Amino acid sequence: MKIHEYQAKALLSRYGIPVPRGRVAFSTGEARDVAAEMGGRVVVKAQVYAGGRGKGGGIRLVSCPDEAERAASQLLGSRLVTPQTGVEGVPVSKVLVEEASNVAHELYLGILVDGATRSPVMMASQAGGMDIEEVARSAPEKIIRSSIDPAIGFQPFQGRSLAYGIDLSGGQVGEAARLMANLYRLFTEKDCSLVEINPLVVTTDGKLIALDAKVNLDDNALYRQKDIQELWDREQEEPLEVQARDWGINNYVKLDGDIGCMVNGAGLAMAVNDLIEHCGGRAANFLDIGTLNNTERVVNSFKMFSADPNIKAVLVNIFGGMARVDVIARGIVEAYQQMSFSFPVVVRLAGTNVEEGQRILVESGVSIIHAKDFLDGARKAVEAAKGVIR
Ligand code: GDP
Ligand code: MN
Repeated sequence: MKIHEYQAKALLSRYGIPVPRGRVAFSTGEARDVAAEMGGRVVVKAQVYAGGRGKGGGIRLVSCPDEAERAASQLLGSRLVTPQTGVEGVPVSKVLVEEASNVAHELYLGILVDGATRSPVMMASQAGGMDIEEVARSAPEKIIRSSIDPAIGFQPFQGRSLAYGIDLSGGQVGEAARLMANLYRLFTEKDCSLVEINPLVVTTDGKLIALDAKVNLDDNALYRQKDIQELWDREQEEPLEVQARDWGINNYVKLDGDIGCMVNGAGLAMAVNDLIEHCGGRAANFLDIGTLNNTERVVNSFKMFSADPNIKAVLVNIFGGMARVDVIARGIVEAYQQMSFSFPVVVRLAGTNVEEGQRILVESGVSIIHAKDFLDGARKAVEAAKGVIR
C-alpha cells in the first residue's frame, strides 16, 4: 500500500528524521495561508501516488503567498501526468505547502527488501534527485548498498560506511548514520516494503533534511498497521482495481488489452496472459480467483468484465485442484442469468469435478465457446476478441 508524501513525512518526523516545515492544503485559500505562515518562499507539491512529479510539473517553487495560491489553483482539480503515470494521469486533490530549502547537494537514501539476498538492503547515492533511475541504469556503481541482517538490525558501522561512501564528512557522517538507523527502525516497525528519501539534501548551511519521502507498506501486514491502513486514498488507485477489492477479488490487476481473463492460480493466470499475447491478443486484466467454495467470486468477476468498457471477449481458464470445477461452472451460469453480456466467453475447464462442471454448462444452455485445452482457449479468445468467432 502507498501513502502520500505528506503522510510519509509525518512518519519520518516521528522517527526523528528532519523534514521541512509545512502542511497539506485542500484548497487554494488554504495553500495561500500555509505559504504565508511558512514565510512566503515555499514549494507547492502535488500529492499523488506517483513519482516523477518534478518532471510532470507537479512541484512548484514560489516566492510569495500569491504565487503559492496560483500554483495551487493550477494543480488542484487537475490530473497530473508524470513519467510514472499513464497518459490519463492521476487526480490532484491536495498539495503539500512547505518552506523552501536551500539545496547544496541532492543525495539518495532508500531501503527495500532485496530478493537476491532475501534481506533488507540500505541503498545510498551521492547522485540523488530526479534522475536517479537514469543513474541506476547508466552508472549503477554510484548507488552503494549495504545488506542488513534482520536478526541483528542495522549496525552503526554500516551507517558510517555508507555515509563516507556518498562523500559526507565531519559531523554529517554521524548525523547521516543516525538518520539511516532511524529510517531502518521505521522500515521494520511499520512493516514497509520500501522507504525512500529522494532527495535527501544537504542544505547550504550543512544540514541534512528529507525533501521527499516515499513509504510503501507490505499489504500482508496491514492488519497490524490499522492506523496506516486508514490513510489509503482510493481516489489515487485504478478505479477497476478498487472495485475488484470491494467485490472480494483481491488478485486483480488492470491491463490495457481487450480480453478479460478469469483463472485460478497466480502462475496459471500469468501463463494465460502470456499465451494470449503469444496468440496475437492482449489481456485486459490479470485475475486469479483463488480457491473458492461458492459462486460469488465467479459472478463478481463477470461483473468486473461488464464494468470494463475495453473488453471484447472473456477467457475462463480453470485447472481445478482445490477449486472445484463444478462450483466455477455454476458461477458462470449464475452470471449469465444475472447479466446480459455483449462479449463472447471462451471456457476451458480441467481438473477436479470437470465432468460435473461440463454437464452443468451444457444443461444450462448458456452460450459459451468451449475450448479443449489451454492453447485452444487462448487462440479462440483472440479470435473472439477480433470478431472472427462468436
Ligand atoms: P518527485 O519528482 O516526485 O520525486 O518530487 P520531489 O519532491 O523529489 O521534488 C523534485 C525536485 O524538486 C527535487 O529533486 C528538488 O530538486 C526540487 N525541490 C523540491 N523541493 C525543493 C526545495 O525546497 N528547494 C529546492 N531548491 N528544490 C526543491
Ligand atoms: Mn523525489
